[in-house]
Amino acid sequence: MRVCILGSGLTALTLAKALVNQNIFVDVVSDVVNFKINKSRTIGISSSNFDYFNKNILNIEKIVWKLKRIEIYSDNLKNEKILNFENNKNQLFSTVKNFQLYEILNKSLSNVDFCKQIKSKNKLVNFKKYSLIINTDYSNSFTKKFFNKKLIKTYNSLAHTTIIDHENISNDVAVQIFTKKGPLAFLPISKNRTSIVYSIHNSNNNLTENTYKLIRKYNLKYKIKKINTIETFDLKSCMLRNYYHGNILAFGDLLHRIHPLAGQGFNMTIRDINILMDIIKYKNDLGLPIDSSVNSQFENNLKHKNYIFSNGIDLIHEFFNLERKLNNTFFSKSVKLLGKNSYVNKFFTQIADKGINI
Ligand SMILES: Cc1cc2nc3c(=O)[nH]c(=O)nc-3n(C[C@H](O)[C@H](O)[C@H](O)COP(=O)(O)OP(=O)(O)OC[C@H]3O[C@@H](n4cnc5c(N)ncnc54)[C@H](O)[C@@H]3O)c2cc1C
Repeated sequence: MRVCILGSGLTALTLAKALVNQNIFVDVVSDVVNFKINKSRTIGISSSNFDYFNKNILNIEKIVWKLKRIEIYSDNLKNEKILNFENNKNQLFSTVKNFQLYEILNKSLSNVDFCKQIKSKNKLVNFKKYSLIINTDYSNSFTKKFFNKKLIKTYNSLAHTTIIDHENISNDVAVQIFTKKGPLAFLPISKNRTSIVYSIHNSNNNLTENTYKLIRKYNLKYKIKKINTIETFDLKSCMLRNYYHGNILAFGDLLHRIHPLAGQGFNMTIRDINILMDIIKYKNDLGLPIDSSVNSQFENNLKHKNYIFSNGIDLIHEFFNLERKLNNTFFSKSVKLLGKNSYVNKFFTQIADKGINI
């Protein structure tokens, strides 16, 4: 049995490593020659996903920065704290730089007998030899032909990302502020560096100067030495209507892309990998073929959960957006009240950690 993974991003490499660890032959096929991964982007990984990654994919202990607490503030309530999530025993979240995760995965896959990384145009590849094809690439011919039915939402916002250099502090608390212009996250990555994701409504590429000022305005605790170059990305969410076509399965952000406000996009993908690997291992152990039946099982198991989860994230965005437009404080006050209830707080923390495990 040989599996083909199309694409060369974080999802493609993570999935390849998970499969290789199960002694499954994998070809990672991509026509991107010079893959340049963004240096200012970071990913927050939830505690249970971090454990799963370490045990089943690759030990990333050395490249992560651990966070004990997440604090949520609302500009509408004069920057009052409305939610506080913490885990006294373990870390709540870990942050990792995208490019470091990419590099460590890439290195772990080079010179491995079970994995070939092939740089080639799709039309030159003989796809018939693969029992399963997993597609993570937005622009190849499979995507255009089989995965064009989707629910898309454009947020009319740009995500501005950068890293700030600041004086040393213990730096194990992440902060998210729902500002009047959109959600702003401070995600610590070391004692003296913190990553910023600021999603600004109706913004444009010329806003960078203004973004520097806004970051300084909302900064609550850092003695900033330098704000590095700001990168911008268009924000939209997208959900495919069909997860698969025959033995071709869509995966990663191609399958579901969400607003970054809760830092859950890649976390959803890690949970998907967990489920996919369980299906594959089960079939492998019973000597059953790894074919399109894997894809239908995967879709049946996950589609509704991912749909609810993605919509939940969108709903949070919409509530804060509405509050901003109406210029009232109802939602922030309600969240603050609810968050004080320990059961509700625990429930929110579990959803952020494990997703929807119905
Ligand atoms: C601002 C921001 C912050 C985020 N923060 C978090 C977070 O804290 N936690 C979390 O879980 N998720 C977060 N996410 C989501 C997370 O970054 C994505 O889910 C993840 O990177 C998707 O990886 P992917 O391989 O599926 O897609 P992509 O990286 O988009 O790659 C898909 C395919 O596109 C092609 N491609 C991609 N990049 C290039 C390139 N440079 N050159 C050529 N081809 C390319 C490749 O073929 C690749 O296989 C965030 C997203 C954004 C925009």
